[in-house]
Amino acid sequence: MQAQKRYANRYIACFVLFCILFSALTAFFIWCGAILLCGRGTSAEDAAAPSRPIIVIDAGHGGEDGGASGTDGTKEKDLNLLVAQSLADILTAAGYDVRMTRTDDRLLYDLYGDLTDYTGHKKTYDLRNRLRFTEEAGADLLISIHMNKFPQPQYSGLQVYYSPTAPESRTVAEVIRSYTKLYLQPENERETKAATSSIYLLHRIQRPAVMVECGFLSNEEELTRLKDEIYRRQLALVIACAAAESLSGTAGK
Ligand SMILES: [Zn+2]
Repeated sequence: MQAQKRYANRYIACFVLFCILFSALTAFFIWCGAILLCGRGTSAEDAAAPSRPIIVIDAGHGGEDGGASGTDGTKEKDLNLLVAQSLADILTAAGYDVRMTRTDDRLLYDLYGDLTDYTGHKKTYDLRNRLRFTEEAGADLLISIHMNKFPQPQYSGLQVYYSPTAPESRTVAEVIRSYTKLYLQPENERETKAATSSIYLLHRIQRPAVMVECGFLSNEEELTRLKDEIYRRQLALVIACAAAESLSGTAGK
């Protein structure tokens, strides 16, 4: 038991050290992104009409739609919102104009009051309204946050889908994938994928958009990580850094 305890303590110490190093590195990157952004507003034209890139962050599911769930009852909708909120905090601090499709536990079918009775149409209107919200916000980028699930429990790892309508979407997805591999999951070999019509939001949208499937709730180890606040912040930092690099136009150069 003592040996086990010592091993556990050593493991925790290593993990904390890793987190500190990781946070310092990514914070530095965010800082560089913020400097780049601030540096743009130096001309008279920019000073007259300052404009910040608009990023819409979409926490998938909500309310009566829990999304996928883990064996312990953890609901996808709750983890989606927690990651989305962390991501929004980081990108707001970096100077972006961030809008969230939802900030609490609900579906968005009645966002625009189209019907008096949504019975049988909740899911349709929910997705339609997420699309409308993003389009009307004039988003430079949509990041939709989801969690994955598969019948076989061995599968794990973040995966990014991109909208086939705007070419920038694929670039953003590729940067998220490469940063994930570099900073978070060196063993992750998952390729980015173009969204098919089964992903309504990405398939319909006419703006740069990606959906990040942050991990598999069907994998016990990954589920444990996703429930950890520090890991979720790391996840959000990786996505934020990738978004910042993509929007600065330096991705792939
Ligand atoms: Zn989902």
